[in-house]
Amino acid sequence: MKTRIPELKRVHVKTYGCQMNVYDSERIVDALASAGYAPIDQPEGADLVLLNTCHIREKAAEKVYSELGRLRRLKEAGARDGQQVLVAVAGCVAQAEGSEIIRRAPQVDLVIGPQAYQRLPELIVEAAAGKRVVETEFAAAEKFAAFDRTAADRSGRVAAFLTVQEGCDKFCTFCVVPYTRGAEVSRPAEAILSEARRRAAEGVRELTLLGQNVNAWRGKGPDGRSWGLGRLLVALAEIPGVDRLRYTTSHVSDMDEELIAAHRDVDALMPYLHLPVQSGSDRVLAAMNRRHSRADYLRLVDKIRAARPDIALAGDFIVGFPGETDEDFAATLSIVAEVGYASAFSFRYSPRPGTPAATRADQVPETIKAERLARLQDLIDAGQRAFNQSRVDRVAEVLFERKGRHPGQVVGRSPWLSPVHVEAEASVIGAIMPVRIDAVGANSLFGSLSGQARRRAAVEATA
Ligand code: SF4
Repeated sequence: MKTRIPELKRVHVKTYGCQMNVYDSERIVDALASAGYAPIDQPEGADLVLLNTCHIREKAAEKVYSELGRLRRLKEAGARDGQQVLVAVAGCVAQAEGSEIIRRAPQVDLVIGPQAYQRLPELIVEAAAGKRVVETEFAAAEKFAAFDRTAADRSGRVAAFLTVQEGCDKFCTFCVVPYTRGAEVSRPAEAILSEARRRAAEGVRELTLLGQNVNAWRGKGPDGRSWGLGRLLVALAEIPGVDRLRYTTSHVSDMDEELIAAHRDVDALMPYLHLPVQSGSDRVLAAMNRRHSRADYLRLVDKIRAARPDIALAGDFIVGFPGETDEDFAATLSIVAEVGYASAFSFRYSPRPGTPAATRADQVPETIKAERLARLQDLIDAGQRAFNQSRVDRVAEVLFERKGRHPGQVVGRSPWLSPVHVEAEASVIGAIMPVRIDAVGANSLFGSLSGQARRRAAVEATA
């Protein structure tokens, strides 16, 4: 039997999916710290293994069940060594599958949806006592409250996420998020401002506000007035040390005048916006229940560009939505060309159980989806190369975040969110410096610090 220090417990959190889940996993680790758990990087040796799952990608639930198969062996090996290994499933698959996970996977001790993380420490105690627990109630506001209590010191990081909103009321016909994350709930402004101040005090210079529908955020400001995201961004930019702000992901119908004006007036708001459209065809947009037309989207892009001419736009596209014709797909290609995206994510449509589009009889054959996706991605890649190429021989302000993979290399982010690789001392990490862009790679930029910037970094390093 292994010798173990009884009071020292370890948790391994494996995160799938989006930035919201990355953020949630950090908060889960924070919450579990109060229950005496310290994080470790691998499942071996953990007293608790928690899978923070994502339901967006195809076969998400199957992937979780196959991972649970591996964890069953780990749990059995632990039991042979006299160690209790608890297995928990969190995130959107937990929310969607609920007690089905408990039924199919006897090795699972706890299933917990995203709105119940504030109860994790107590539920873990119940699970450790032998109870198999399922907690998938919707109470997002309580979850936010738990995050407020458990915010950890993340010193050393220069860019961080900050969740401001959860859930979605839009019900696009292909998407599971309204079912797995629940209705739109905004975190109170005071709590957001207070977390931002804490992060700034820890040395964070860039904050990315997160929400499934982040621009649906609404709240009461400290001045007693009703605020939207634009006003919140103004207030965040006033916090000393908060030099850069971003937000993701936005819905067209929540992009109001105040938020557009913030792109013009708030220097800290970086010139980058992820604004999914999904399709360029009005017929498909209506079938997707996107609540706007192609013309609405293009008008909005014009307004945003008028407010912030150097903005880099990113998009999301689904090809092969049920009933999509060649003409519909041609409209998607044409909107990509018309908008000129700096980057975009594109996926083949795949049915999600429980969503209206999944039951449609006019599903597009996979071969056609594959062919359309390849054509779309060629166009998107060409747009991304053109955008990156247009940065060459220009100077960009880069926030350096970490060491690169090669010795002597440091990586930062341009205002347009592209990674920028520079040969420099690690002492520049945390600084925002002008970098001349010399070359472009597939997804990143390569640049050099000016002589003056290098001298400044050297002085700061020895100060
Ligand atoms: S806006 Fe549509 S795609 Fe986005 S989370 Fe809501 S339902 Fe899903």
